Amino acid sequence: MRAVAFDTHSHLQDRKILDDFQAILQRAEAAGVAGIALCGYDAASNELAISLAAAEPGVFPTVGFHPHEADEVSQAMLAELEGLAALAEVVAVGEIGLDFYRGLAEEANQRRLLDAQLEIALRVGKPVSVHTRGAEDAVHEHLAPYAERARAGGLDVPGVMHCFGGTLEQALRYVELGFMVSIAGPITYPRNADARHLAAGLPARSLVVETDSPYLPPQAMRGKLNEPAHILHTAQAVAAARGESLETLLSQTTANAERLFRLRVPARAGAA
Ligand SMILES: [Zn+2]
Repeated sequence: MRAVAFDTHSHLQDRKILDDFQAILQRAEAAGVAGIALCGYDAASNELAISLAAAEPGVFPTVGFHPHEADEVSQAMLAELEGLAALAEVVAVGEIGLDFYRGLAEEANQRRLLDAQLEIALRVGKPVSVHTRGAEDAVHEHLAPYAERARAGGLDVPGVMHCFGGTLEQALRYVELGFMVSIAGPITYPRNADARHLAAGLPARSLVVETDSPYLPPQAMRGKLNEPAHILHTAQAVAAARGESLETLLSQTTANAERLFRLRVPARAGAA
């Protein structure tokens, strides 16, 4: 069987591409993308992730509040989030995290929101999908105690660092906690040697790939909206950085995504 890809982070419910949802899924399938995580980031996008994924076998919703929302999220909204996170079809809590780069919300509020959502993840027993920008060390302060409790509670992989832009040394500190590290389109940018160094140095069992659609198109698609079919450009760049074949890289990263989200992609569910 041909190796299939898994896009561990996308926002297909984004208004910029939502009208194209069915065509995007068809192009993804044609490109060999068998699994797509559809990630929420605010109340409306969480609901939409769940409703869009419901009719699509290979599309898996996650729900969470992005750190940009931290000044706006109320206790009632968190209670609602917990209800959604507990649904059987929701595979992770995210995206959650800290963003000191854009700093659209107060740091104290971001940290409080992150902790509240880590508690939700522990209560519903699901992994987290973590955004970190300009906060690669600060996030670790929150994830270290969380990961210890998650793993004590039986969660093999406590979560994934989405579109990780820190150093290899920082990434390996998350790997030590049991996290997967997700590589996105910027690895294909000619000047981004740091991303290729990061991808080359990660253990094979800790590596996954993503598009972050409709953002971060790979080099060959720059200026266009990104979509899951473009994951192959990123996977190819990761494979090249590691000196592996695309087949090997896809088999490994798809198996990792299945372990992370505790599921089987439809293309493999029937295979022995
Ligand atoms: Zn995202």
